[in-house]
Amino acid sequence: MRSALSTLEVVRPRSLDHALEALGRSVSGERLVPLAGGTDLFVYLNAGTPPGTRYLDLWGLRELRGIRVRDGGVRLGALTTFREIREHPVLGRRFPSLVAAAAEVGAWQIQNRATLAGNIANASPAGDSLPVLMAHDAKVDVRSARGAREVAFERLYRGYRELTVDADELITAVTLPFPPARSFPFFRKVGTRRAQSISKVVFSGLLALDRERRIAHVRLAYGSVAPVTLRARRAERALRGEPLAASVAARARAALAEDIAPIDDIRSSRDYRLAVAGNLLEQFLRAAAESRARR
Ligand SMILES: Cc1cc2nc3c(=O)[nH]c(=O)nc-3n(C[C@H](O)[C@H](O)[C@H](O)COP(=O)(O)OP(=O)(O)OC[C@H]3O[C@@H](n4cnc5c(N)ncnc54)[C@H](O)[C@@H]3O)c2cc1C
Repeated sequence: MRSALSTLEVVRPRSLDHALEALGRSVSGERLVPLAGGTDLFVYLNAGTPPGTRYLDLWGLRELRGIRVRDGGVRLGALTTFREIREHPVLGRRFPSLVAAAAEVGAWQIQNRATLAGNIANASPAGDSLPVLMAHDAKVDVRSARGAREVAFERLYRGYRELTVDADELITAVTLPFPPARSFPFFRKVGTRRAQSISKVVFSGLLALDRERRIAHVRLAYGSVAPVTLRARRAERALRGEPLAASVAARARAALAEDIAPIDDIRSSRDYRLAVAGNLLEQFLRAAAESRARR
């Protein structure tokens, strides 16, 4: 461990209000850094690149826990772990791509500690849950001592690892509306190996057909192909109102190349990522067509 843990200050708040009040204050110009499961923060501490010396330990805050099923959807507390997501029966039925993404986050040890809000706030373009949240039109509840607000997930990132959440704000929950009737969800992560890898490309899709079997609703969300997780809006436009046909898929794939901006880095090359992103789109559309044919 390259950071001396004994020099770090950790504040354990008694309640969410206490946490927000502590987060609002700065000491010698330094604010508290929220600490949830610690699975990202400890990597930075270990590398000797901690984001601060003062931490706000959220783990004991009951207000940030729990998965609640409501009329129009599901509300997940900020501290919901990926293990809890994997094991929740309603999420398994209604949001199978979120459960599939949760199963891809590290191994069981990580899934027991890693939280949904930590994955969001860490803001890695390779975060596995992020494309699923985007494809499902998630809303993020954010609170500070100044008040509460709701942010559409797709407006959450300003740029590479930059959130529209201020330093005195906490993510308190994530809300997912139930998807449209007869919709088809999809999640796929492509990495160097089948388990425990950082994604080269991560993709989540959601589509629903109308009575004429045309695509009425479609979301295509990608990670690891740009500085932030993004929706492939040109490709979505190429699909909306069209039938699930190979020629339509080919047009959407061509449009996708305009939506994404992958780079060469240590994990992969731009060309490979472009090819994989297109393959995943076609795989999704084929799987949706096959699922429709079986009904
Ligand atoms: C071995 C290993 C494997 C991993 N594999 C994967 C993987 O396959 N896929 C993947 O996506 N990630 C992976 N990760 C990364 C990590 O586990 C996830 O990003 C996790 O969800 C982070 O959650 P956490 O609760 O541990 O966050 P923490 O480490 O506690 O915090 C992460 C960041 O979020 C901020 N934060 C936390 N909670 C809040 C809140 N409520 N409001 C505002 N800010 C907050 C913190 O200040 C910090 O900046 C891996 C990590 C390790 C160590």
